[in-house]
Amino acid sequence: MADVKDYPRYVTPGFIPFSPVELAEKTEAIVGLGDQRKYTHFYCTGVYGGISTAYTVGCCLRCVFCWVDWSRDFPEKYGFFCSPEKVSTYLLLNARKSKVKKLRISGGEPTLLFHHLLKILVLLREEDYLFILETNGILLGKDEDLVKELVPFPNLYVRVSIKAGTPYSFEKKTGAKKEYFYLPFQCIENLKKHGLNFHVAVMSDKHLMSVEEKRYFLKELKKTGYKGFLEEERCEPYPHSVARLRFAGWE
Ligand code: SF4
Repeated sequence: MADVKDYPRYVTPGFIPFSPVELAEKTEAIVGLGDQRKYTHFYCTGVYGGISTAYTVGCCLRCVFCWVDWSRDFPEKYGFFCSPEKVSTYLLLNARKSKVKKLRISGGEPTLLFHHLLKILVLLREEDYLFILETNGILLGKDEDLVKELVPFPNLYVRVSIKAGTPYSFEKKTGAKKEYFYLPFQCIENLKKHGLNFHVAVMSDKHLMSVEEKRYFLKELKKTGYKGFLEEERCEPYPHSVARLRFAGWE
């Protein structure tokens, strides 16, 4: 049983900022077992025009607007271990049943337990489906070698989601130390450098991001040389988002 003493849960006033890289490792110890990872359910949803989804457990950030259920904060209490074979089978079965052509892992950060993700991608490589990798960019920014390992998958598309526009705001909104703000931007540079197909999303909801913060964000984004589509995310009043915002004192 992994040690959950001092494991960061949700952000509250006075929360001590953490290293998201260390939190990734701590979380991997909880949600990983050999080549297996914890998941809570498998389903199809209408986003991206219809996508088969594996809902996994565990993330390395603690975004105050996160819609994911409490499995993010208490990963030791939720989910069941699934092998890469089981995950790819469930993804394909649901996709065929609902006649959709896209697959993804959601609910947690898919780049945790990277060897598990790679095995899934290998199993799906010959299938006629697009795999959308939704990431917060922390680990792909920290380690360029991980990005290199994604190059051989032509049916892979990456969506990098930036959570805040300044280092200070990043710490306040994600619970992670402000010096890690730059990793998702490094992720964009790494993806560009290695020719992956991707686009950038940003949580720019006007209730969460000021005009000045957005300006700073756009300046940082420009430095990466990114000129593609920018998806602007809105904060929806999902029950877990509302609860986390309240716990963090955002109302
Ligand atoms: S919004 Fe995404 S990156 Fe942020 S805590 Fe939730 S799952 Fe993790």
